[in-house]
Amino acid sequence: PVVTRFAPSPTGYLHIGGARTALFNWLYARGRGGKFLLRIEDTDRARHTEEAVAAIIDGLKWLGLDWDGDPVSQYSRRDRHAEIAEKLLQSGRAYRCYLTPDELSGARDRAKAKGVRFESPWREADTDDAPADKTYAIRFKAPRDGETVIEDAIQGRVAFPNSALDDLIILRSDGGPTYNLAVVVDDYDMGVTHVIRGDDHLNNAARQQQIYEALDWSTPVFGHVPLIHGQDGAKLSKRHGALGVEAYRDQGYLPEGLANYLLRLGWAHGDEEIIPFTRAKETFDLSGVNKAPARLDIDKLNHVNSHYIAELSDDNFVKGATPFLSGAGVTLDTDNFERLTRSASFLKSRCANLAEVAGVSEYLFLQRPLQIEGKAAKPLRKEGAVEILASLIEVLQEEAVWSSAEKLDETLKALVETKNIGFGALGQPARAALTAGRPSPGLGEVLYGLGREEALARLADQTA
Ligand code: GLU
Repeated sequence: PVVTRFAPSPTGYLHIGGARTALFNWLYARGRGGKFLLRIEDTDRARHTEEAVAAIIDGLKWLGLDWDGDPVSQYSRRDRHAEIAEKLLQSGRAYRCYLTPDELSGARDRAKAKGVRFESPWREADTDDAPADKTYAIRFKAPRDGETVIEDAIQGRVAFPNSALDDLIILRSDGGPTYNLAVVVDDYDMGVTHVIRGDDHLNNAARQQQIYEALDWSTPVFGHVPLIHGQDGAKLSKRHGALGVEAYRDQGYLPEGLANYLLRLGWAHGDEEIIPFTRAKETFDLSGVNKAPARLDIDKLNHVNSHYIAELSDDNFVKGATPFLSGAGVTLDTDNFERLTRSASFLKSRCANLAEVAGVSEYLFLQRPLQIEGKAAKPLRKEGAVEILASLIEVLQEEAVWSSAEKLDETLKALVETKNIGFGALGQPARAALTAGRPSPGLGEVLYGLGREEALARLADQTA
C-alpha cells in the first residue's frame, strides 16, 4: 500500500510551493487507496511556535487536504533518532568526531585548498584515543568511492559522485539529530513508500539513500518536484508577493481554484485546465510532473478560479462575498442583502475572485439619488432621454411581477419595438440612471437585481 507524507518545517505559513507538494502527495495516496501522513519538522526549537504549526494545519484544512492519523512531531522522536545514530555507531557506519569548531574550519579549509572532500581525522582514529571529557558529534561514514544514484520518479536517473558527499553529522554534540538522519528514521518508521517533495532536496536524497543502505532499510521511491518560480523566472520569493496560501484566501481565491491551479502548475494532463479533485485523484501520476520549474501565472490562476466562483451556489457566493463587501465598506442590511442575493447568479460569472465582487456589485449599493457625473451622465442629457425613461417607468409599472431578468429584458425589447428606436436609445439612459456608469451586467439583470421599488425609484429620480 502506498504511504506518502508531507513534512513541512513550520515557518509561519503554508508556502504555496509546500501546498503543491502536499497536494501531490495527497493525490498520489488518495488515488491509490493509500495513506497520506503529516509530519511537522519542528526540531529547530529556537524558531518553533505553536502558531507556525497552526498556520500549516489551517492551510491544509482550507485546501481540503486531509491526512491520516495525528500529525507527527519530529521533535518528539528525538530519542529514536539518537537510538539509530547509536546503531550506526555500533555497526561501524558512523563515528564520534571530536573536532572543535576551530579545528573543523581549519580542516575544511585545507581540504578545499587541496580540492578534496573534507574528512574528519576521527573517521579512522582509534576511539580509545578519545578525550573522555570532550564533547563529540556523530558523523555518518559516507562511502569514499563510486557514486550514489537516485532513480527519481520525476527527475529520472541522477548520479552523485561520492567524492562530493562528505561525512555528514547525524547527531549533534547536544544530542539533537540533523535533518537527514531524522527524515530517514521518521520516513522508515512511518512506513513511507513515496517521498514526494521539492527538488531542493535532491542532494539530500543522495545522503539519505546512503543512510538507508547503511541501515539495510529499503529506500522509498523519490519524486522531486521542480520548485515554483515567479513570472520573471526567478525562484519564488517575498518580492513576488503572496507566498502563503492564506494570502490567496484573503484575496478571495477559493480552495478548489487554488488547488486546481497548483495541480496544473507543473503537471501536464492534456489541455484540460479544470480538473476537480475527484478526477485528479484518478489521473494524477508522478510521470506527468514536469522536470522544468513552473512559473506562477496569476492570470491563469484567475482563469481557473473564476470557473469555481461561477460554480458556487448562490448562497455560498453570497456567504463568501460578505466579508469582502464588509471590507469594502458595504453594509449588507436587509435591502442590500436581497439585492446581492437576487444578483448572485449574474455576478458570479463576472469575477475571478471574491475580492472582485465589491467592484462588480457596487451599482447595487449606491445611495439614492445617484450621483451621476461626467461621461456617465451624458446619455441622460441626450434629446428624448427623459421621455424614454418615463415610458420605461410606465411599462415597468405594469409589469406585475419581476419574475426574472429574462422577462424584464423582453419588456425592454418590446418597448424599443413599439417606439421604433434603437436599443441604445433606451439602454444607455436607463443604464446611466440605474448604475451611474458603474460596471454592471445586462439591463434586465440590473433591474431584477435592484428590485422593483429601488429600480423604479432610481429611474424616477432622473425624470423628475
Ligand atoms: N522539512 C523539509 C522542508 O520543509 C521537507 C523535508 C522532506 O520533505 O523530506 O523543506
